[in-house]
Amino acid sequence: VFALLTFGNMNAQKKAYLDKNKTIEQRIDLLLPLMTLEEKVGQMNQYNGFWDVTGPAPKGGTAELKYEHLRKGWVGSMLTVRGVKEVRAVQKIAVEETRLGIPLIIGFDVIHGYKTLSPIPLAEAASWDLEAIKKSAAIAADEASASGINWTFGPNVDVSNDARWGRVMEGGGEDPYLGSKIAIARVHGFQGETIADLAKVNTIAACAKHFAAYGYVEAGLEYNIVDISNSKLYNSVLPPFEATVQAGVRTFMNSFNTLNGVPATGNVFLQRDILKGKWKFDGFVISDYASIREMIAHGYAKDEADATAKGVIAGSDMDMESYLYVAKLADLVKEGKVKEALVDDAVRRILRVKFELGLFDDPYKYCDEKREKEVVGSKANNDGVLDMAKKSIVLLKNKNNLLPLKKSGQKIALIGALANDKNSPLGSWRIASDDNSAVSVLEGMQQYKDNKLTFEKGADLTVGKTSFLDEVVFNTTDKSGFEAAKTAAKNADVVVMVLGEHGFQSGEGRSRTDLDLPGVQQELLEEIYKVNPNIVLVLNNGRPLSIPWAAEHIPAIVEAWHLGTQAGNAVAQVLYGDYNPSGKLPMSFPRNVGQVPIYYNKYSTGRPTNTDKNVFWSHYTDVEKTPQYPFGFGLSYTKFDYKDLKVNKTVFEKKENVQVSVSVTNSGNYDGKEVVQLYIHDEFASIVRPIKELKGFELVNLKIGETKTVTFTLTEKELGFYDNDGTYLTEPGTFKILVGGSSDSGLESRFELK
Ligand code: BGC
Repeated sequence: VFALLTFGNMNAQKKAYLDKNKTIEQRIDLLLPLMTLEEKVGQMNQYNGFWDVTGPAPKGGTAELKYEHLRKGWVGSMLTVRGVKEVRAVQKIAVEETRLGIPLIIGFDVIHGYKTLSPIPLAEAASWDLEAIKKSAAIAADEASASGINWTFGPNVDVSNDARWGRVMEGGGEDPYLGSKIAIARVHGFQGETIADLAKVNTIAACAKHFAAYGYVEAGLEYNIVDISNSKLYNSVLPPFEATVQAGVRTFMNSFNTLNGVPATGNVFLQRDILKGKWKFDGFVISDYASIREMIAHGYAKDEADATAKGVIAGSDMDMESYLYVAKLADLVKEGKVKEALVDDAVRRILRVKFELGLFDDPYKYCDEKREKEVVGSKANNDGVLDMAKKSIVLLKNKNNLLPLKKSGQKIALIGALANDKNSPLGSWRIASDDNSAVSVLEGMQQYKDNKLTFEKGADLTVGKTSFLDEVVFNTTDKSGFEAAKTAAKNADVVVMVLGEHGFQSGEGRSRTDLDLPGVQQELLEEIYKVNPNIVLVLNNGRPLSIPWAAEHIPAIVEAWHLGTQAGNAVAQVLYGDYNPSGKLPMSFPRNVGQVPIYYNKYSTGRPTNTDKNVFWSHYTDVEKTPQYPFGFGLSYTKFDYKDLKVNKTVFEKKENVQVSVSVTNSGNYDGKEVVQLYIHDEFASIVRPIKELKGFELVNLKIGETKTVTFTLTEKELGFYDNDGTYLTEPGTFKILVGGSSDSGLESRFELK
C-alpha cells in the first residue's frame, strides 16, 4: 500500500505542471526538478528534420542519431519539419514516447509568408504601412500555424546600408527608426498584440534576428566579420532589437559574425549584458544554425567542449544543429565547468515559451488537417498578399505621365524573361511554397484585354538551375532573342520591360560586387530604346540596384522587387492605374557600387561645400556623391503639395513635447496616398549627429483637391541619442527639422531645446 501511495504521489507530482490554474512560472517550478540533466540539455537542442519523419525509423547517419535523441527526450525543438502530417509524427514521439512527454517547439523560416507569399520584407518596408505589414505577418502566422508550425525565425531586423549584402532583402532597410516600427509590426503580426495571444491557434512565436550587427558585414561579404563603432551599434543596430523586446518578442537568434573580435554566439556583452540584462528579455536565444560550432573555425573556441561552454555562458540558450550541447554540455556541468544554474535558466526560458504557446495544454493544437486545408493558400490570404504587394511598389520615375497606361486601343510590347517568370517573383526564403506559383507580369497584364499585348523575352535571364541551394548563373552571351524583341517594340505604342535580379540572387549567401542589371539585360534595354524609347521599366530585385543609364534615359521606372505569389497582378494594377503607387524607398539606391555604403542618415564632414569651387571638398571626381534615388523617395500618379510647416513654439524645456504640423494637399488628378516624413538634425552635440534622422511618418489618404493637416509629436525619446557607452542623452541645443515626401526634400524649420 505504501509503495502504491508513493507511486500515486509521484504521478500526481509529475502531472502537477499540467495544471492550467497555476501560473506558468509555478508550472516550470514543478517541472524542472523532475528533469534529469540530460533531459534539460535536450531542451536546449534543436535538430533540422532532414529525413522522412513520417517514415520508419531511419537507419544510419545523422538521421538515426537524431531519431534516437528524439525518443530519449534529448531534443527540445525541430526546424524545417512542416505540414500537419510531419509535425504530428515528430510531436507524437516527443509527447508519447519520452519519459516526461515535453512537447517540441517547431521552428521554420517563415520570412515573408508560408505558402502564400507576401513581398520580400524589404519590399514590404517600402510600403511604410505598419498595419499592412502586421497583417502580412499575421497571414504568414495563420498559414504556418495551420501547417503545424509554432515558431518563425523572423523578423530579420538587421539594419543595413550595404546593397552588396544579399540579405538586405530580408530586413527593413537602412533606417533604425523605420526599422524599429516595422519590427514591432511584424512581431505583433506573428504573435498577436500581447503574450497572452500566443495561446491562440493562429499565432506563432517570433524571433528577432540576427543579434547583432550582421547587417554590417565588411564589404557586404556574407558571413564576414563586423567592425563598427559603438555609436553605430547603439544608435543604428540595437534600437530595432530593443523595440522587439518591448513588443514582447519571445525569441532571439544570434548571428554568424564577430563583433570586436568576439563571435555573436559567444558574446557575453550582447546576450547577457544588453539583451538579458539591460533589456530584461525573458524569452530564449537560439544560435544561428551551427554558429556554436563555428566558434571553433572563428578561432574563438579551442574545441567542441570549449565552444559549448562559451555558448552557454554567453547566453545562447538553444543550439541549432551544431550537435554540441547534446554531446558536451552534461559533462561540462558534471565537471563543474558550466554552472547548472545556467542550464536551468536556459531551460526555464525555453519551457516558458512552450507553456505560453499552450503546447503543454494541447501538444497537437497546431495539427489540425481540416484547418490546414482551409487556411493554407486560401482566397483571403491571396487577397491579403495582393494588397501588400501593391502597397510595396515604388514609382521611381514617370516622365510626361507615361504611366498609368491607357486601358484600351494600345499596342503593348512586354519584354524580358522576368515578365514571364512564375518562380522569380517568389523571391528568396520560400521553402514551403511551390516554385512557379507566382502570378507573372504577363499573366497580370493579360487581365487587361482591351489592349493588344505581345510578349518577347529578348534573352534568358539565367542559365542552368536556379534554386535555393544553387548559385544563380546569368546569361551573359545569348542575345538570339534580341531581334524578335526589337520587332515587337518597334510595332508597339508602349514597351514594358521587366528586368532585374532573379529571386534567388538575393538572400543568404548572395553577396554581389556589382549592382547593375545582370547579364545581357542592360544591352537589351539600350537596344530596345533605340527602336522605341517609350519604355516603362519594371524592376525586379532584392536589393537596391544601380541603374544610372536607365535613370537618365528611360521615361518611366517602377520598382517592383520580388512581390510574392500575387506579383503579376499587383504590377498590372499599378501600371494600369487601378492602384496609385505610394511606396517610398527604405534604402538608398546608389549611382554605382563604388558609392556603397550610401545612406541618408550620414554625418557632416568638416569640409566646406562645393560652392568654394576647388577640389578640396568631400566628393568623388567621377560621379555625384548623392544617391540615384534617396531613402524615403517615391512618386505617385498624383501630386502632393506641402505648406504651413509649424512648430508650436521656438524654445522648449527638456521634458516638453514638440508639436510639428504641416498641411498636405493633393493637387493632382488622382486620389492618392502620401507618406509624410519628419526628419530632425541635432545641429550641435557631444557626439556628431547625422545630418538627418527620420523621427516620424504618417500615411495620409487624400482625394483629388483634398488637404489634411498632419501633426507629429517629438518627445525626449526622439530627440536624444546614445553616447559611446550606450547611455541615452538629450542635450540642449538647436534642432533643424525637415518635413516632406522624401529624405532629400521638404519644408524646413528650427527649434531650440533648453
Ligand atoms: C540563417 C538564419 C535561418 C537559419 C535556419 C541560417 O543559415 O542565417 O537566418 O533562420 O539558417 O534556416
